[in-house]
Amino acid sequence: MKVAKGITRKAFKEKFGTKEQCLNYLVQKKWSFGFICRRCKNDRFSVGKKAQNRRCTKCGYDESPTSNTLFHKVKFGIENAFEMTFDIATSKKGASSIWLAEKYGVKQNTAWFFRHKVQLAMKSSENFPLENEVYVDEFEIGTPQKREQGRSKSEKKIQVIIAVEYRNGTVGRGYAKVIDDYSCKSLKPIFEVHIKQDAKVMTDGWSGYKPLLKNYPNLKQRLSNKGENFTMLHLQIRNFKNWLRGVHSYCSKTNLYKYIDEYFYRLNRLKFRDSMSCKLIDRMCVHQPTNYKSVIHNVT
Ligand SMILES: [Zn+2]
Repeated sequence: MKVAKGITRKAFKEKFGTKEQCLNYLVQKKWSFGFICRRCKNDRFSVGKKAQNRRCTKCGYDESPTSNTLFHKVKFGIENAFEMTFDIATSKKGASSIWLAEKYGVKQNTAWFFRHKVQLAMKSSENFPLENEVYVDEFEIGTPQKREQGRSKSEKKIQVIIAVEYRNGTVGRGYAKVIDDYSCKSLKPIFEVHIKQDAKVMTDGWSGYKPLLKNYPNLKQRLSNKGENFTMLHLQIRNFKNWLRGVHSYCSKTNLYKYIDEYFYRLNRLKFRDSMSCKLIDRMCVHQPTNYKSVIHNVT
């Protein structure tokens, strides 16, 4: 499998190759500001049931390094979970759950669930909006619907809006959002969350963008001319669609945003490939845990 440039697997394994190394790293990250008991707020501890656990000296609450992190209750070995995170962060074409399941000898569902946990940690912090030149467009993704009895397999379209930044003629960072329709109300959130108000925004001629001129004075509209005026943006859309097709065969509207988070997490860090997988591990160490039911129902 092709891996993006950056920290090599060898270097990653040297750092996180054993269970002990991974647990020690979790200890260092989750208690970097000291220990505070989650039950009684006491700040003193002794060694718990296991070597890296911390046990509150007051109420006896015993906390493992993985609890209250996205590595909570990982059943296939913490060192494998770290390496799976490395695979998801660095594989250029995307690590599908089928591929991960085969590599780590786990059920596809287990790999799928862990992949969703990693995707939670890939969610944008929303602290770094796009600036300079920003191109915005909408596109559709056709997803085959699960076959229902008595009905033929049909294709349902999911609408997505994408914003990509250009700096000195090259592609910069980007974001995308699933939208319900092409109304101004649906188009607006990606602007509010991900685009600086003084950015030079370029959209196609769609009237739904017009009301946004009030808050984005540098917004300009240009006829798309079947995509010819937005060549680089359309290339990004094509890349995203190809990637999506490669990592899963069926994606519901409610799950699509997680794949969007994953794709743009990687795209937006191409210049920071060296630290991408380690930074992702760090995010997972401080992210609150989730369970299968929450992932299925999209409660995050
Ligand atoms: Zn306590």
